[in-house]
Amino acid sequence: MNVHEYQAKELLAGYGVAVPRGRMATDADAAAEAAAELGGPVWVVKAQIHAGGRGKGGGVKVVRSVEKVRETARAMLGMTLVTHQTGPEGRVVQRVYVEDGCDIARELYLGMLVDRAASRITVMASTEGGMEIEEVAATSPEKIHQLAIDPATGLQPFHARRLAFALGFTGQQVRSVSRFVMAMYDAFTDLDASVVEINPLVVTGGGEVLALDAKMNFDDNALFRHEAVLELRDEAEEDPMELEATRHELNYIKLDGNIGCMVNGAGLAMATMDIIKLCGGAPANFLDVGGGATRERVTTAFKLILSDSSVEAILVNIFGGIMRCDVIAEGVVAAAREVSLGVPLVVRLAGTNVDLGKKILEESGLPIVSADDLGDAAEKAVRVAVEGA
Ligand code: ADP
Ligand code: MG
Repeated sequence: MNVHEYQAKELLAGYGVAVPRGRMATDADAAAEAAAELGGPVWVVKAQIHAGGRGKGGGVKVVRSVEKVRETARAMLGMTLVTHQTGPEGRVVQRVYVEDGCDIARELYLGMLVDRAASRITVMASTEGGMEIEEVAATSPEKIHQLAIDPATGLQPFHARRLAFALGFTGQQVRSVSRFVMAMYDAFTDLDASVVEINPLVVTGGGEVLALDAKMNFDDNALFRHEAVLELRDEAEEDPMELEATRHELNYIKLDGNIGCMVNGAGLAMATMDIIKLCGGAPANFLDVGGGATRERVTTAFKLILSDSSVEAILVNIFGGIMRCDVIAEGVVAAAREVSLGVPLVVRLAGTNVDLGKKILEESGLPIVSADDLGDAAEKAVRVAVEGA
């Protein structure tokens, strides 16, 4: 799960990470009020969307009067902000953050993430902040310092000092940076984050070390124990179909292809996607309805696939073990009655109650292409997606 910049800053500040003062607003007058409260004389109005690159896209503006804050907020709210991370369709701005303008002397990069290959939380730091770190990594990787933290010891003060030295800090600032890094690591581990990225981390003209931007990602599997984080969820920023799937406990991920897949079991779903590719097609989604899905859940899953306009054929591939084939068949029929089935449907059923399942599908009168095995099903799905029937 993702949160907005202002939410990430609030969470981090709770652990002692230094951030500028700021207020979130959802309308122009509230933004002006927030600016008056902060006092100025310089403010930054920042569009809050779950994507970076806002600065370049026109979503970060430095202004010097309360009236300008109001005007800028008015222009920003409701606008569709396109950045290199939003894709060409962009995101509608529904919240802005009004923040103290900061006198920047240096911009650095500081990130922490779970490095799956190393099975460790890895800290990354670079003097090349403010830019796209991917580009730095590609063109001058030696400018990124990496440190994998042993989970048995956690991040130690000497690690943090070593990073501060690597970034060129001296004297009193080494302490500020170390404290910053330690606090950030506490937040990361305590909140079960998967990514915390500060870009830029700045040193002000007065020598203060601050997080000027903050991005936090959380491990979905740990959200159940972080109610305060869950409350920060902004559903308007999430893919509506994936959201609907989450509500029904379906594992659904939208992909770029045109063959909608409904499968039980994550392994079989992966194999189904692979074999579609092997047959020259492309899956429109990953969808695992789970082992013990009810008829209602199957219906929702099927409707979800049908609501995706890029789907040109559907492949239902079920191996009935715990899942019964008749339950799947009933779900498919119910969904196809509720939402008209405008694309060809290929079904491969095997396992528990397969005969009953097939009978329900046959008697439904739906135009179903039945398949005997996985290879046959994938070939047929790819063919009908091309032919249209
Ligand atoms: P994004 O990464 O989405 O572009 P940032 O929050 O990093 O958004 O802002 C982009 C740039 O705007 C920063 O690199 C910094 O130069 C400037 N900026 C952001 N916040 C402030 C602030 N409070 N004061 C001064 N400059 C800022
Ligand atoms: Mg940034």
